[in-house]
Amino acid sequence: MTPKVARFLADHQPATPCLVLDIDRVEANFRALRAALPLARVYYAVKANPAPQVLGRLVALGSSFDAAGAEEIDMCLAAGAAPAAISFGNTIKKVSAIAGAHAAGVSLFAFDCEEELAKLARHAPGARVYCRIAVENAGADWPLSKKFGTTVERARELMQMAGDLGLDPYGLSFHVGSQQTDPTSYEAAIGRVAMLFTDLRDAGVRLRMVNLGGGFPVRYRDEVPTVDMFGHAIMRAMTRAFGNDLPEMLIEPGRFIVGDAGVVSAEVVLVSRRTTNDPLRWVYLDIGRFGGLAETEGEAIRYSIATPHDGGPTGPVAIAGPTCDGADVMYHHSNYRLPTALTCGDRVELLATGAYVTTYASQRFNGFAPLAEHYI
Ligand SMILES: *Cc1c(COP(=O)(O)O)cnc(C)c1O
Repeated sequence: MTPKVARFLADHQPATPCLVLDIDRVEANFRALRAALPLARVYYAVKANPAPQVLGRLVALGSSFDAAGAEEIDMCLAAGAAPAAISFGNTIKKVSAIAGAHAAGVSLFAFDCEEELAKLARHAPGARVYCRIAVENAGADWPLSKKFGTTVERARELMQMAGDLGLDPYGLSFHVGSQQTDPTSYEAAIGRVAMLFTDLRDAGVRLRMVNLGGGFPVRYRDEVPTVDMFGHAIMRAMTRAFGNDLPEMLIEPGRFIVGDAGVVSAEVVLVSRRTTNDPLRWVYLDIGRFGGLAETEGEAIRYSIATPHDGGPTGPVAIAGPTCDGADVMYHHSNYRLPTALTCGDRVELLATGAYVTTYASQRFNGFAPLAEHYI
């Protein structure tokens, strides 16, 4: 938790549940990533946290943006981003959104199949396009490999087709999976992309860009490699693959930029045991799976939790949300322990919850309001 967030919570005791996010930490994270990969242009993945305060600060820092649909593009433009600084990075786009983006001056689009390429040729003629390759997502706590991307062989055909359709075959992209904890995952993906660059050059198609996607991890319960380690691994692989003929490099960080800038402050609603002698306590908070903690699905993302009794004796707990839905359990099998003194009414903090929380909150499930947000 940043000192600014701690001070805000202490001074204001805002109603729970709420997210408090330190915009200066967003800036620090952006600068750290840019320092680790100075040759890469940063396209912030808007879905991680689209708050105007976040987008506005990133615009001021010269960031570009990876948007998934018409609404995210509008949010970027409203925050002051130039259309040329926006990539329409979703491989699944409505025709109306493609046409709208094209009309607004967005000229960079992702795709991963022939059908989407045809839509782009028709509704964004002449646009720069990049093809997403499916790569190994091992090492990622939140994988993205099944739904997106095509094979190297198919990408080769598609990029040739792109030129024939009047589009600009600009580059290739991949995503090694979100909360990726293994820097070598980028190296393997870069190797595949580089081979395709060579193949296509031999076929007369000169690509100019590699989009390395996101995936840079945040420290939750477990230690993760530093962003400098990722930077070194990526530059080593890029240099090995491309020599001194490096293509333009894009990165699309989401989680890393906003994750550790935010803290969710929550209240303990109930602490109970199923039976008198059960060692396991159930801790119910006023935020759960439907209040924004969607990434606890499968206990994939394991947040650290701070309590007023930290330092005292602890015992095993399951941690759940406040709704009447059986799926509203965050942690049951991940060996969470919390202080035995924890009790109803205590305020707890879920740390590093600035990414993928506010927008995942349901509207009014069981009547609970969407997560309140404070940007400081
Ligand atoms: C979600 C997403 C990102 C951001 O990933 P992080 O793991 O949060 O850095 C980047 N690119 C694309 C295409 C995405 O869908």
